[in-house]
Amino acid sequence: MVILKKTYRYRAYPSQSQKSALNRQMYLSKQIYNLLLEQSQKHFKETGKTFTKYDMNKWITKLKKKNPEFNELYSQVCQNIADRVSKAYQNFFRRIKERKHGKKIKLGFPRFKSYISSLTYPQSGFKPEKKKVFISKIGRINFVNHRDMEGKIKTMAIKQTKSQEWYITFSVENEETPLFSNNKPQVGIDLGLKEYATMSDGTKIPNPRISNKSIDKLKMIQRRLSNKNKGSKNRRRAKIKLARISEHIARQRDDFLHKTSHHLVNSYSLIAYEELKIANMMKNHHLARQITDVSWGNFIQYLCYKAENAGCRVVGVNPKNTSRTCSDCGNIQDIELSERTFLCQKCGMSKDRDLNASINILTTAGLAGSNASGDVVRPQLQEAAVVESGTILGGSR
Ligand SMILES: [Zn+2]
Repeated sequence: MVILKKTYRYRAYPSQSQKSALNRQMYLSKQIYNLLLEQSQKHFKETGKTFTKYDMNKWITKLKKKNPEFNELYSQVCQNIADRVSKAYQNFFRRIKERKHGKKIKLGFPRFKSYISSLTYPQSGFKPEKKKVFISKIGRINFVNHRDMEGKIKTMAIKQTKSQEWYITFSVENEETPLFSNNKPQVGIDLGLKEYATMSDGTKIPNPRISNKSIDKLKMIQRRLSNKNKGSKNRRRAKIKLARISEHIARQRDDFLHKTSHHLVNSYSLIAYEELKIANMMKNHHLARQITDVSWGNFIQYLCYKAENAGCRVVGVNPKNTSRTCSDCGNIQDIELSERTFLCQKCGMSKDRDLNASINILTTAGLAGSNASGDVVRPQLQEAAVVESGTILGGSR
């Protein structure tokens, strides 16, 4: 049995008075967040120790006695803010550790917040109905129920986007028995810019280039924005418009990633991809924008968590030489980035560059020799190659 986590997101339409109540909760959350952060820093400087959650709760009780306005904040929301601060601190300590071990990373001390735009109700304080959700201290908020939820609701969050839209998100858990294997073929996948993905069986997924279509629109509004006076009403309006377009693009991109990953895990029993490729290519600045657009990282994440339930495995392989190796004879030779065809100097094989790479990726996964039913798998190689599969999932296999 595995626990499959899923989120449902709905557009919400709070009334004017509900909006002010929500904004009030967010304002108080921000205050508490910053106060807790300040207190944690002070505590660390004085004692050299972490301000634990226990310390935080004790401190919050005292704060509420001194400043009764904080009693307005829903207790579970307040709890969640304490969690956020303590997580920010844990990340900070993790980075210190990693740097000690020689990793080159910025330390990034936890920062004070100028605003908080989401409230999370970790256990209670909310109750979904058909078209409304009751939220403690706020009231019953209308939302567009475009799809019914399945599973046990764990948490609820309400968020205001930069474009001033409201969304409600429910995190839901389902217990499911994963399929052992879906008996479909195995595949290597080469992620690229020209094509979004090239598969070792010859399938190509074209790059949606969602951003390029809207980029002119974005640029135009950005230009307009710079002509508006700082602090003016028009500038604020243009900012909201800009946020609306970026959010629209992000949603379209996300939609593409969800549909594509869903399709792939249902078409194959194993998908091998190159690890680290994203980090490597990000070093090249010209490519960086396009890569963030195609968001490979999210794609792999989606593949991994959808795979488990579809009886598919997702494995990451070392990207070394995948582009430079002949997929027929194994000869390694240099190939320019501009060359679209791999022409082997030893055996004469000629193949599309990305297709050649994707076949090598599958070979590297140690699985190329197995048959389509997926039962000839060299276990030691398979274990070594698995990095990402199921990282999003709770529970065990
Ligand atoms: Zn060759």
